[in-house]
Amino acid sequence: MSDLQELYRDMVMDHNRRPRNFRKMDQPTCSLEGYNPLCGDRVIVYVQLEGDRIADIAFQGSGCAISRASASMMTESVKGKRTDEAEGLFQAVRDMLTRPPGSDFDEDKLGDLVILAGASAFPTRIRCATLSRHALPAALQGQAATVSTEGEGTP
Ligand code: ZN
Repeated sequence: MSDLQELYRDMVMDHNRRPRNFRKMDQPTCSLEGYNPLCGDRVIVYVQLEGDRIADIAFQGSGCAISRASASMMTESVKGKRTDEAEGLFQAVRDMLTRPPGSDFDEDKLGDLVILAGASAFPTRIRCATLSRHALPAALQGQAATVSTEGEGTP
């Protein structure tokens, strides 16, 4: 196992045991449910906006350790950021996970989320790792329906 994969495994275990921002929000500005039918993961993301800034973010749901840990990491990394910064971050994660094997990616931009690179070593679980990342941008764009990872060509 590479260092990044080991780090990824440790982070997943830690965030699964003690998920950050794991609660229901009473009056969110927007919220959205993400669903990953391949694994049965469900994540509801709640966002409190102040202008274009993510003042608060929380999530709830049920699913595997990876979906829970990834949602926990995601909420930590975007809290306090502007919505366009958050979307830029998700684009960077997407680029990292879909890049050709062995090629470089922008580690500085990713911050702690660079650990999600470890997810690419477990291809069948990538949708678990990216479920909450699908839900948040959709929530910010005001979509009301459940977002599913089903049927997408890329993670
Ligand atoms: Zn899962």
